[in-house]
Amino acid sequence: MVERPKTSAWTRAAQALGWLDPATNGVAPAIYPSTNYSRTAAYEKHEGRGYTRDDNPTYDQAEALISDLEGGSEALLFASGMAAATVPFQALAPGDHVVVSEILYFGLRKWLTTVAEPWGLVVDFVPSWDHEAVARAMRPGQTKLVWVETPCNPTWDVTDIRAIADIAHSAGALLAVDSTAATPVLTRPLALGADLVMHSASKYLNGHGDVLAGVLVTAQDHALWQRIRYLRFEGGAVLGPFEAWLLLRGMRTLFLRVTRSCESAMLIARHFEAHPKIVAVCYPGLASHRGHDVACKQMAGGFGGMLSLRVRGGREAALEVVKALQIIVRATSLGGVESLIEHRASVEGLDSPIPDDLLRLSVGIEDPADLIADLEQALA
Ligand SMILES: *Cc1c(COP(=O)(O)O)cnc(C)c1O
Repeated sequence: MVERPKTSAWTRAAQALGWLDPATNGVAPAIYPSTNYSRTAAYEKHEGRGYTRDDNPTYDQAEALISDLEGGSEALLFASGMAAATVPFQALAPGDHVVVSEILYFGLRKWLTTVAEPWGLVVDFVPSWDHEAVARAMRPGQTKLVWVETPCNPTWDVTDIRAIADIAHSAGALLAVDSTAATPVLTRPLALGADLVMHSASKYLNGHGDVLAGVLVTAQDHALWQRIRYLRFEGGAVLGPFEAWLLLRGMRTLFLRVTRSCESAMLIARHFEAHPKIVAVCYPGLASHRGHDVACKQMAGGFGGMLSLRVRGGREAALEVVKALQIIVRATSLGGVESLIEHRASVEGLDSPIPDDLLRLSVGIEDPADLIADLEQALA
């Protein structure tokens, strides 16, 4: 790649770092589907390539862009967000202790209690916006990793990454941040002291609801990172080259999509904040949200495209609203171009800590007036 002038992240994402296909000068990225690579006559690998479970040139392009946007030293793609999220825990040893956000992605909480704990990891769930609770939970020498999600699903509470990084580091632990909801457009956890960033790339990074992918980004190449790289290769939770290519294509519009979703989410949050049929709007962009001050400090350019509405009248009323929607789609997942709504308590089941009047809204890039009108008619 030729030396390029320093540009903003908007430009680097739009141009996928200015990559051109070395074989053809094609402007669009190429897909390399080969699973294996021939060896030289001396039986050596060409440029280190042997087999695609280890690495693939199509991953390199997407990984380079994500790592660049996060300000990391390296990124690794995985077959899903869960494949990426579980590997740092698998890289630890039985008996190690981890401190994890009390409110976090439901699937990861379930994996930690049903797989990681029986395997021997010692897990403490703490409210990660409460610094004293995190500090009290640390066990110097035994605590290897602190895992936080911010803003977290589905209350959108905000954790102060810099403060938690200091607490983790002074106890000798690393800090990993699930930054799926914030994206590198709004928050760059590594610059705030985190050691690892994780994304479900199925969400905003891809942005079109048609790729399942995950990614980990590291600030430095430490022993845990080497173990993570080894686990991807030996565990084999790799992405297909076509998915990696689609992800790269999606990321080229990341800044436009996230910026638009943030603007619309703010309009919707403000519109429904004092609505007689809404008990509360959970959105870090509102001054009434308990994470607002930290969000102002830590998020730049917007407060995210995710918000939750708590409907007056409890579970029945919330489900009635969902039923009456005509434009916003009833579906799980988030971060796509189309707006999605979900009754989280129904999805998570009986032991869910999520209030049953809560509807989670992923705001897409449609005309926000249409979204507000749809919610208004459904509430009426
Ligand atoms: C969706 C999601 C995950 C899991 O990602 P998959 O790609 O569905 O495996 C993890 N964390 C957060 C915050 C998510 O929204």
